[in-house]
Parts: sequence; C-alpha cells; structure tokens
Amino acid sequence: ANPPVITIDGPSGSGKGTISRMLADKLGWYLLDSGAIYRVLAVASLHHNFGPQDEESLVALATDLDVKFIANDETGLTHVILEGEDVTMAIRTQEVANQASKIAALPRVREALLRRQRAFREMPGLVADGRDMGTVVFPDAEAKIFLTASAEERARRRFNQLQEKGMDANMDALVTEIRERDERDMNRSAAPLKPAEGSLMLDSTAMSIDKVLDEVLQYAHHKL
Ligand code: C5P
Repeated sequence: ANPPVITIDGPSGSGKGTISRMLADKLGWYLLDSGAIYRVLAVASLHHNFGPQDEESLVALATDLDVKFIANDETGLTHVILEGEDVTMAIRTQEVANQASKIAALPRVREALLRRQRAFREMPGLVADGRDMGTVVFPDAEAKIFLTASAEERARRRFNQLQEKGMDANMDALVTEIRERDERDMNRSAAPLKPAEGSLMLDSTAMSIDKVLDEVLQYAHHKL
C-alpha cells in the first residue's frame, strides 16, 4: 500500500508551515514543504534572468532542478541547497515569493515538479504543505486540511517575523502584497489554491498554534 499522507493547504501566513512541521515531528513522518521547491525554482530563475514569460526555459530548469533538503536535527532547521549553494535564507524574501507565485501559475512548470513532490511519499508517512497538495499532488491523501486566516492577521504575523529579524516592514504594503499573491494563487487556472473536497476547514485568525495543532491531531487520529 502507498504510505499515508496528510495534506495541509492554505495561503501564506495561515500557519500551515509551522503546523505541518509540528505534526510531522509528532507523528515521526516526513515533511514536504512544496512552497520551498517553487521558491528554489524562483531563485534559480532570477539567477538566469528568466521571467514568467520564458516558459520553455523554466520548464527545463524545473525538470533539472538540483535541489536538496537537509534536515539539521540540532537546530531543527531544514537547509535548502540549490546546486551546492545554501539558499535557506535567500528563498524567504518577498521578491522570491512573488516570483515563485508568478512562475507557479504555469501549468507545464507545475507538471515538471509533480514527480519530485510525490517522491517525498515514504514510510511511515508524509505531511505535505502547500496550495494543491490535497487537490492535485496527493488527491488520495488519508486526511486533508485547509488552513486560513484573515489577510490582516497574516500580514500582522509576517510583520512580527520581519521585526524579530530586525528587518524593516510596512504593514499596509504587507497587506497589499498578501492580497495580490492570494489573488494570483486562487485565480490561476492551473491547480488554484482551494480546499480539496472533504477537507477539514480551519480558520486560525483567532486561534493559538497549540489550539490549531490540537484540532489537527484529533482530526488526523480520527482519519488514520
Ligand atoms: O508557501 P510559500 O509561500 O512558500 O509558497 C510560495 C509560492 O509558491 C506561493 O505563493 C504559490 O504561488 C506557490 N506554490 C504553489 N503550489 C504549492 C506551493 C507553493 O503554487 N504547492
């Protein structure tokens, strides 16, 4: 039988990255951060000066993408290595997020990344975090979760993260950027961001991380 999968989809800032990692830890399962793959491809495309209109080149880049995820058990951080270079930090900028969301709208680019994502499905199981994990990549997943939060709350979380890192941030600009990226991710024709049928719907706007994790664990145990 196929190894079991729990999918967690939703917009950025909904808390799905944090929840996915905690859930994978708790279960002792593998973790797929699919957004990181799109972000790595975005970094590679920026290096090569490919824009979203260079579909052919992007498909070739996606097909041959030399990316490795290396978990550091001491720091709990997963290092992302692109062609031997550590891009763990570089993939987290707003510029990269925007480029990722633009090239992620190309159907053939998504197609080229499918097999790579499915390869993460190994025993004893996988927690898959993204936009189309439950709808396209793992439609046969045992449990599917859709996690959201209001755009203002997601911008506020992002603002706090940036401030903690000592980086400049503007709340209005963050709300605008989040809305634009949501818009693009939800309205594209290829694998748009939307809840998979039968998903557990959670709105984390007024929930603590622990509360969200609690609900997710209960649901997962009920489904597995
Ligand atoms: O989740 P994260 O913010 O890292 O994702 C960056 C971008 O990659 C998203 O805005 C989205 O456009 C794209 N993405 C996607 N499908 C996924 C994961 C990410 O299209 N499964």
